[in-house]
Amino acid sequence: MPELLVVGSVALDSVATPFGAVREALGGSATFFSYSASFFTGVRLLATVGEDFPHEHLDLLKDRGVNIASLQISQGRTFRWSGEYGYDLNEAKTLDTQLNVFADFKPILTEEVRRVPYLFLANIDPVLQLDVLHQMAERPRLVALDTMNFWIRGKRDDLLRVLAEVDVVTINDGEARELAGEPNLVRATRAIAAMGPKTVVVKRGEYGALMFSGNTFFMVPAYPLESVYDPTGAGDTFAGGFVGYLASMDRVDAATMRRAVVYGSVMASFAVEDFSLNRLTRLTRDEIGQRYVAFGDLTRVESASG
Ligand code: AMP
Repeated sequence: MPELLVVGSVALDSVATPFGAVREALGGSATFFSYSASFFTGVRLLATVGEDFPHEHLDLLKDRGVNIASLQISQGRTFRWSGEYGYDLNEAKTLDTQLNVFADFKPILTEEVRRVPYLFLANIDPVLQLDVLHQMAERPRLVALDTMNFWIRGKRDDLLRVLAEVDVVTINDGEARELAGEPNLVRATRAIAAMGPKTVVVKRGEYGALMFSGNTFFMVPAYPLESVYDPTGAGDTFAGGFVGYLASMDRVDAATMRRAVVYGSVMASFAVEDFSLNRLTRLTRDEIGQRYVAFGDLTRVESASG
């Protein structure tokens, strides 16, 4: 099965929701992404952590089969993010972002890593995203990217530069509006597609996901869950299911893309059921398959028997 490379943050997250809180739990865009994608295909994780990063977190990734040979342990402190959510779990409020070892992380990709055919540029400094893309020996079959308000506000020009070179962008609805400078989501989505990516996937939290590709919109609801504890990482977990499935099929046609949006939604629906990666660490392939079928049932209008 074709391999997938991800560059992004590996973090220690402190998160509070109305239902509980965690301090310095395992997080990071590349962490959630790689863990989720590993249910579908082989994943290589490119990132850096500090010397303070707990070893058991590395073991967790290794045990899932994530290839961490390109995860560099640098002198200094691990990236830290803290955020909180109100009863509307759709919007994270960032309280603090400490880049720490990411502030001057300059990875050099090995020959082997430069040839990985699927690439995900997870939420991190767009300068780093572009650097990794330009180090690839040949253009990967698919390049997808995710970002957030921190970079949209702080490094807009760099972000526009890398956006112009990717095939797919995954972004949440508030950030899509901010990036496009356009409150209407349909217009914002079209405006982002005009920045470069042929496919735009907008993550809408409890309202599901919207894909714009080839001038066509496709929508999937979110799975109706009774208990949502922590939405942190839902977007990256979605992207892990989405790109992981595409890589596993080695296809990026319209029908496969639609199925990939459902697999992304399936993975995100599990991630929010507990804090950090806790639910994902208990997840099985069978549960993924069952929820995929349940997603089809959610919107089927005519029953098979008529
Ligand atoms: P999401 O999937 O959008 O909920 O992403 C949550 C993850 O993004 C958290 O685990 C954070 O560690 C990570 N994160 C937050 N801010 C940043 C940032 N500015 N750059 C990279 N990663 C971040």
